[in-house]
Amino acid sequence: MYRTQYCGELRSTHIGQRVMLAGWVHRRRDHGGLTFIDLRDRYGIVQIVTNPVGSPQAHQILDPVRLEWVIQVEGIVRPRLEGKENPNLSTGEIEVEVLEVKILNPAKPTPFSINGQDEADEQTRLRYRYLDLRRARMRNNLELRHKVVKFIRDYLSERDFLEIETPILFKSTPEGARDYLVPSRQHPGDFYALPQSPQQLKQLLMVAGTDRYFQIARCFRDEDQRGDRQPEFTQLDLEMSFVEREDIMKLTEDLFTELVAEVVPHKRLLASPWPRLTYQEALERFGKDNPDLRFGMELKDITDIVPGIGLKIFETVVTAGGYVRCINAQGLGDYSRKQIDELNEFVIGHGAKGLAYLAITSEGEQRSSFAKYISPENVEIIMARLEANPGDLLLFVADQPAVVNEALGFLRVSLADRLGLIDPDVLAFCWVIDFPFVIWNSEEQRWDPSHHLFTAPMPEDIPLVEIDPGKARGQQYDMVLNGHEVGGGSIRIYDRQLQEKVFELIGLDQETAHHRFGHMLEAFEYGTPPHGGIAPGIDRLCMILADEPNIREVIAFPKNQHARDVMADAPSPVDPYQLIDLHIKLDL
Ligand code: ASP
Repeated sequence: MYRTQYCGELRSTHIGQRVMLAGWVHRRRDHGGLTFIDLRDRYGIVQIVTNPVGSPQAHQILDPVRLEWVIQVEGIVRPRLEGKENPNLSTGEIEVEVLEVKILNPAKPTPFSINGQDEADEQTRLRYRYLDLRRARMRNNLELRHKVVKFIRDYLSERDFLEIETPILFKSTPEGARDYLVPSRQHPGDFYALPQSPQQLKQLLMVAGTDRYFQIARCFRDEDQRGDRQPEFTQLDLEMSFVEREDIMKLTEDLFTELVAEVVPHKRLLASPWPRLTYQEALERFGKDNPDLRFGMELKDITDIVPGIGLKIFETVVTAGGYVRCINAQGLGDYSRKQIDELNEFVIGHGAKGLAYLAITSEGEQRSSFAKYISPENVEIIMARLEANPGDLLLFVADQPAVVNEALGFLRVSLADRLGLIDPDVLAFCWVIDFPFVIWNSEEQRWDPSHHLFTAPMPEDIPLVEIDPGKARGQQYDMVLNGHEVGGGSIRIYDRQLQEKVFELIGLDQETAHHRFGHMLEAFEYGTPPHGGIAPGIDRLCMILADEPNIREVIAFPKNQHARDVMADAPSPVDPYQLIDLHIKLDL
């Protein structure tokens, strides 16, 4: 037997008991002839003490013991001396007087401290991930993630969902990224693709009559890495039969509302029911289809007044079909020229040509990049339109709509950070609906699905799919939280003809469509129920609930930003005979 109790579980109710503990040396102090060790296991930390008189042997064994050694101790729980209690520690009222010690394993000095607050650089943390995961922050994140997944499993199981595994070795299931391919030894020249999501399989499960399916599913997408992307990531993948958009949205909303109350009770929802925005409205008000609703500072449009104010640079843009939009950064009216220049650089980094500004200092004095070109009355017109007051900083971008939205959408978020407008304990969920069904891909001169190939158009827009596809809306919904898209889903096409029409629309010729999706089309001929689903991302969700800046912090063994596992060193070369087995030559 190694232990009778966990380190973190001891309280004053254990006083007088003989206990056996095992764990890591978290801290060590020697003073007054005594040795104090903070012993740590997953459940917490407890102070153990040896003294050379009462337990000379144990004291001697502990002499060489350093941080992160693994030891086993046996001793008596006793109250700490008066005034020596530690209110920051759940075991802080007691300590364990050691009678016997055994060293289970020594440890080399660790490349970064496990007990300190100082952050090591991320590459080192990833290289020694097993040490990084010993730290309280990471342990808490793993625990949180476990609770999230457990809550989901319990919640859905109670509502008749079946958790069903789907294959990892499959065929391309496109979600708009590159596939990871796996060569086949038994079928020279053929490849499996790792699923970008279980999309097709969950739809086939609906054809199979499963009715309610979910899976905590690993998805693989070969795309450039960002803070909220990884080559492999986890979704709560779910699908239901005989449902409409409202049914999926309601189930998801209820699930996550209850999950928040249970798993992160210190957080509060900004609004319940979750606000709904159309795609168009989200772009107009926030510049993004994943708006952060925790703060205001919405985009304001002044395109309509531009023709009357005589400002050439704005006019040229409007004549060319562009917009002039503005953010009022209330409270930044006293920003220096240099600070405004930084904002200018920021929007240039997001694709705009630059910012025009009108700053009104707290004393009411105006500074502007354009006021000298127009009359004071016209400046007043702009100010009145934007309801500007002393202390305001009006920031304008004039360009094509997509550029304006992108630049101001990102600027808005960055300004909220600078202004400290974000309450970290608020969770602003919302739905974005009524997306365009397809988006024009000008590079390849064809339509791309705005969600994926299997999303159904809105029933009333089906005729548009053929005559004016750009105007049709899809039956899709995105679940957005604090400015991150944390999930997307849709009602699916369940009719072979319509599915074939969509393949055609996005430029998949019949042969390719049949080669890639023949099994779906075939299945659709055997009695397919209307169905739909959604797939919230577990990593992003946990990242936000844990207040972490990127999803790597909530994944036990993530890849770095170059898609490498720096701990195991993957990807890595393989033995030549393995390539021969796979019929692969590396001489491209
Ligand atoms: N498969 C989709 C995705 O990964 C989600 C869904 O439509 O259910 O985004």
